[in-house]
Amino acid sequence: MSLRFTALENLLHSKPVVPDTTTKITAIFAENVFTTQLARQFLSDEAYKSLLGSVKLGQKIDRDMASQIANGIRAWAEGKGVTHYTHWFQPLTGTTAEKHDSFFTIKSDGTPIEQFDGDALIQQEPDASSFPSGGLRATFEARGYTAWDPSSPAFIFDIGYGKTLCIPTIFVSYTGESLDYKAPLIKALESLNNAAVDVCNYFDRNVQQVTATLGWEQEYFVIDEGLFNGRPDLVMCGRTVFGHSSAKGQQLEDHYFGSIPERVYAFMRDFENEAYKLGIPLRTRHNEVAPAQFECAPIYEEVNLAVDHNTLLMDIMTRVATRHKLKVLFHEKPFAGINGNGKHNNWSMATDTGINLLAPGRTPKTNLMFLTFFVNTIKAVYDYADVLRASIASAPNDHRLGANEAPPAIISVFIGQYLTKILQEVKERVGDKFDETDESMLKMDIHKSIPELFLDNTDRNRTSPFAFTGNKFEFRAVGSSSNCANPMTVLNTIMAETLKQFKKDVDALIDKGDKKEIAIMHVIREYIVSSEKILFEGDGYSQEWQDEAARRGLPNVKTTPLALDAMVTEKAKHLFESNNIYTHAELEARHEIELEKYIKKVQIESRIMAELATSHILPAAIRYQNLLVKNIRGFKEVDFPESTYINQKQILEVISGHINKVSELVTKMIEARKVCNGITNTREKAIAYCNQVKDAFFDQIRYHVDKLELLVDDKEWYLPKYRELVFLR
Ligand code: ADP
Ligand code: MG
Repeated sequence: MSLRFTALENLLHSKPVVPDTTTKITAIFAENVFTTQLARQFLSDEAYKSLLGSVKLGQKIDRDMASQIANGIRAWAEGKGVTHYTHWFQPLTGTTAEKHDSFFTIKSDGTPIEQFDGDALIQQEPDASSFPSGGLRATFEARGYTAWDPSSPAFIFDIGYGKTLCIPTIFVSYTGESLDYKAPLIKALESLNNAAVDVCNYFDRNVQQVTATLGWEQEYFVIDEGLFNGRPDLVMCGRTVFGHSSAKGQQLEDHYFGSIPERVYAFMRDFENEAYKLGIPLRTRHNEVAPAQFECAPIYEEVNLAVDHNTLLMDIMTRVATRHKLKVLFHEKPFAGINGNGKHNNWSMATDTGINLLAPGRTPKTNLMFLTFFVNTIKAVYDYADVLRASIASAPNDHRLGANEAPPAIISVFIGQYLTKILQEVKERVGDKFDETDESMLKMDIHKSIPELFLDNTDRNRTSPFAFTGNKFEFRAVGSSSNCANPMTVLNTIMAETLKQFKKDVDALIDKGDKKEIAIMHVIREYIVSSEKILFEGDGYSQEWQDEAARRGLPNVKTTPLALDAMVTEKAKHLFESNNIYTHAELEARHEIELEKYIKKVQIESRIMAELATSHILPAAIRYQNLLVKNIRGFKEVDFPESTYINQKQILEVISGHINKVSELVTKMIEARKVCNGITNTREKAIAYCNQVKDAFFDQIRYHVDKLELLVDDKEWYLPKYRELVFLR
């Protein structure tokens, strides 16, 4: 019997695994995290101060202190039954990586002891040769090492067998090039901090630190593990390459408001508990638009921590799902014909004086500060729309962007009616001099109107890739399976760059004798004028917008290989170098890695398509074809007139047509792949894979296979069907 029928049979007996639903969240929250309270308890005053200085102000921790901190962390972890530790990092594969070592060691005199010293805390050398490095390691140095990131606290991973102490780290080569997603992110946040503090000081001298904040919303599908295993395409690529739409999809819109199915609810409670123990502040959960689709979101946090928490959560969800015999799909488009997954990145900046810089102010001064950061964001997105687009480019996200369910591949900014009006008013002052006595602009009562507008959801635009939502921007085009670090690195870097320019521009006017506020208003006005093309309030899914964007000259790059070009333009190189994020070599390496990832993903999909078509689809179709042939031969043998089996003949003809087409197209696709594999330039190879393999064959092959799915006898079809995958639990 095929896995499909076994899985369907097993579903009849499946029951939810009841999770612990009685414990209060506050009782378990962060119980597996080495929090600052624990640091207070386990560390000497000196070591505690040193750790805090590093967390809060990025100060360096010396070796001696590191050893003391390591001892404290080990004492805490051992008390919780931990025997192993690992440096936990986020290589460019897009997942997380770890290499476990035990505390156990043998001293020179042969005594076995448990030990975790400062060196082990600070640095570890994983066997890094098989992580992507885009040629960097080959060029510079053969080894990479992980280095402790004190700004993200150590935690104990306790899912499955054994408990492991995890030390969040960055991953770098011996010559200092970053080989992961986190090292550049931390640099970008530092750059933003410096630039934003300078600008804040125009308004408030007390601001010493600005932290970027991130609240992500993670979408995902949950399906039965047995059915998942019956789909080699899901197992290999995380998405179905074939599958006819089920009679019912999401057209009744009954899933979004429906109740959460029992088995999934049990799973959610279970992974939420695990997340709480690790200090991930999850707050919301709900059904999403597509059947079997859900979403969760935490309370926002400082970006670096939020990124760690997102990657950690994806790992937790994947592992906890197996307890429930479920599978989580984070792929951007697991099923054709119904919505895919996204990961909205809600982003803002906060000062150490407690002000959200993207929340409209309550006094004329904070009002102007808000307007400053708001307009600088718009300008940053306008100036670097292509770089921002590149930061979210991936093979799976190509299925979503521009597919009329997700923001288009055109980057635009939505700000709502009210702020549009405000910007218009500011702009109209261009021409006539903004005179010294005119302080009305500074007194705009922005804060009073905005919260109302946004709170009642009337001024929401779901089709914009970058939308202002009252006190933050929501970057909606981020892929659900991707690490938020990359888009966050770019967003914070372009913001830093723009703010630095802003400061220069304002200072230049002040030097010429303008009053500070007036100078600021002048520059804001100038920025509005120069970047307003990026503002769009209409329907981002419409053809009119595609046309309008083209007229405005906004970039609209639909495929990953071409979108990635923006990473290595002179503009991008200057941007990343001047903010100390990437050297040219690092940027080229990353470009290469992203292209290679793209090629491999399309290649794997193409292989699985060919394999499924040849060893699953065609045999099933041919078995059924034979049955029809036998049937028609039977009619002939008993001398029935042709009119009695004319319909059977027609079915046979249709099926034979599809069989021939699948067979022919698959052969051609394999040929096309061979041609692509012969191309040595990575960019050209990626473009060829996109055009000559993916675009030329995937949809066509799928069309005929999906037709066969509807025609062939159900019991001959071994791949679980869409209706089973998304409706049965
Ligand atoms: P919405 O209904 O607009 O999606 P929510 O209040 O539910 O708004 O927030 C969605 C996400 O945005 C949550 O993860 C939330 O924590 C996050 N968020 C709210 N304020 C901020 C902020 N200042 N910075 C970053 N993220 C934020
Ligand atoms: Mg949202």
